[in-house]
Amino acid sequence: MGEFDLIERYFKRPAKRAVLGIGDDCALLQPPPGSHMAISSDMLVEGRHFFADVDPRTLGHKALAVNLSDLAACGAKPLAFTLALALPKIDEAWLAGFSQGLFALADQHGCELIGGDTTRGPLNICITVFGSVPAPAGKSQALLRSGAQPGDDIYVSGHLGDARLALDALRGKFHLPPALLQSARQRLEEPSPRIALGLALRGLASAAMDLSDGLVGDIQHLLKASQVGATIHTASALDRLAARKHAEWPNAGINDEAALTCVLSGGDDYELLFTAPPSTAAALQVAARQSATPIHCIGRINAAPGLQLLDENGVELPMHFTSFDHFS
Ligand code: ADP
Ligand code: MG
Repeated sequence: MGEFDLIERYFKRPAKRAVLGIGDDCALLQPPPGSHMAISSDMLVEGRHFFADVDPRTLGHKALAVNLSDLAACGAKPLAFTLALALPKIDEAWLAGFSQGLFALADQHGCELIGGDTTRGPLNICITVFGSVPAPAGKSQALLRSGAQPGDDIYVSGHLGDARLALDALRGKFHLPPALLQSARQRLEEPSPRIALGLALRGLASAAMDLSDGLVGDIQHLLKASQVGATIHTASALDRLAARKHAEWPNAGINDEAALTCVLSGGDDYELLFTAPPSTAAALQVAARQSATPIHCIGRINAAPGLQLLDENGVELPMHFTSFDHFS
């Protein structure tokens, strides 16, 4: 099988939404009238973002999920994506699993594969997603990192830290009971992009971003963009570790410090972090219900710069929690 048979067999499907899909030198996409395009790329590299032996179906899912998560963070509606793929060899079983996981998530969000590139090389997956955001009279309704105001509440969606817990367990740092490992591993390998919540937050959230490298590091980008500071209540954040509710937790050998590290520094959550004035609290709960995505308040935006972590007694924790950085 050659490069073009591979594209034909595993990736080419009739264009539905796109004006022109796979097969020509460019794809053609018509964004809805009166909207802006939201565009984002994410690359997954073997050994860095995933283990070599990971199930190709979950890898297909995750490669698209991490990109859709960026659209969710901006309140954008997914339209289409491109896929640049470097493969060491043609492995049909791998390609079948990968494309199955990829298209299952793509179809769930009405996001169409419209092109890409295929080359031989160390396994590397780069996806670019295209979404749309209403822009009446040229004014975009996209959620940005820069709108947080002093006094705003800080919310996160879903759960935090379980992906890191799974990663540490797979690396042998923790020994989790099978059911706990299974659920945490699903969070690591098959994150759910919070598209519906992102759409529901338009007009409500003052700022938003998605969490990919760990809460404490990621929030700093939002604070910097908004020129504000924040207080996070670590007990509320710790509550977000889904594994903590697990009956077998006390036997898993993970102390509070380790759990807190997962929640504050763990990457790969792909949840939304957003801010909103307290007056929107009731509307936010409606948005959460309508999008079937739980949300939780974990802190408050301050006028004074800096990030403060408070424990359940209001005592400030030392800031030794760091985030993932590829070059640090
Ligand atoms: P070009 O030479 O112009 O870069 P290619 O010959 O590499 O184009 O690709 C042929 C067509 O197949 C193009 O429409 C391209 O977008 C598409 N394509 C290539 N690789 C992929 C892929 N992995 N997934 C989806 N479409 C792809
Ligand atoms: Mg090419």
